[in-house]
Amino acid sequence: MIPFNKPYLTGKETHYIYDAVNSGKISGNGKYTQKCQTFFESNYGFKKCLLTTSCTDALEMAAILINIKEGDEVIVPSFTFVSTAIAFVRQGAKIVFADSYSDNPNFDTDKIEALITDKTKAIVPVHYAGVACDMDMIMELSAKYNLFVIEDAAQAIDSFYIGKNGVKRALGSIGHLAAFSFHETKNIISGEGGMLTINDDRFISRAEIIWEKGTNRAEFFRGEVNKYGWVDTGSSFLPSEIIAAFLWAQIENIEQIQNKRKELWNRYFENLNQEPPSNFALPTVPDYATNNGHMFYITTKSIEDRNRLIEKLKLNGFYAVFHYISLHSSPYYIEKHDGRILEKSDNFTDCLLRLPMFYELENSNIDAICKIILENA
Ligand SMILES: *Cc1c(COP(=O)(O)O)cnc(C)c1O
Repeated sequence: MIPFNKPYLTGKETHYIYDAVNSGKISGNGKYTQKCQTFFESNYGFKKCLLTTSCTDALEMAAILINIKEGDEVIVPSFTFVSTAIAFVRQGAKIVFADSYSDNPNFDTDKIEALITDKTKAIVPVHYAGVACDMDMIMELSAKYNLFVIEDAAQAIDSFYIGKNGVKRALGSIGHLAAFSFHETKNIISGEGGMLTINDDRFISRAEIIWEKGTNRAEFFRGEVNKYGWVDTGSSFLPSEIIAAFLWAQIENIEQIQNKRKELWNRYFENLNQEPPSNFALPTVPDYATNNGHMFYITTKSIEDRNRLIEKLKLNGFYAVFHYISLHSSPYYIEKHDGRILEKSDNFTDCLLRLPMFYELENSNIDAICKIILENA
């Protein structure tokens, strides 16, 4: 059976872990943590990076940093992973779910303004499959209504947004704060892992405190204060050096990993892009976005079509999967949702099909998968 995902190892992971263990420093914020953070800061224009134990954790830090409290409203796409919403729900926020575009699971930015009220505190764009949301428009709304923008960039490492002014910026460098994931299903991995990026200076020193259990330990180790103690709220959001050492091996190979994934993505696209078009839709990448080869999916015309394709692929030894159940109709939130129908999001819930995508996937596998899809769609 060809799996849906297979974590890729560069071969250097255990070498760096061995080095971390041997150095005697295996708790957080050591040499490897610094190396990883510095890499991301200097290559992608993030003002400050802090590694976290997951993207969920990074989103929780963001919710604490912008002081989300009971009664605040946060605008989140419905077609996303639960973490996007839960980080704000834990702080007492009410989630106002936004619908997707018809040809792209990202939330439809033309429909966001109508969701803003005097209680709205933040907008959380999710760059689905690493494809940018319309960030110029979101940042305009943010300025007009004084809202924070927290990018859920879990899937968006090494992907970019090209603004109306022609400037290309890394996803995760545009909102006030952003969260990345290094979960084993993402492009660059550490098993579990994540990162908060801080692009607004106002949040940097407090973020370091929240990161290390509400203490000013980071300042202390830089010699900026002569003792450290409990100064704010926080938690233990930082990963151990063992995780950071693993991540460093991945970072060293990021270019090679990204090139390979994009090559696989393009092969899927070229194989499936038939004239006349088949009975399913291919992913779209707007002009303002780039593709980072995170995910390849198709959108079928019905749930029955999707189920049939999953079965056919399985019979031939390929494991294809679907996700997400629209969050507005999830068991946890359905009673709290305001009742609006989010038709596009529900359509992706029924019809989006993710195909196997991982570094070691072979071209012959892609060709076989595409053949099955074209014959059975
Ligand atoms: C993977 C993912 C997350 C969660 O990442 P973790 O590192 O597992 O916490 C959040 N949001 C989106 C959109 C994701 O794809």
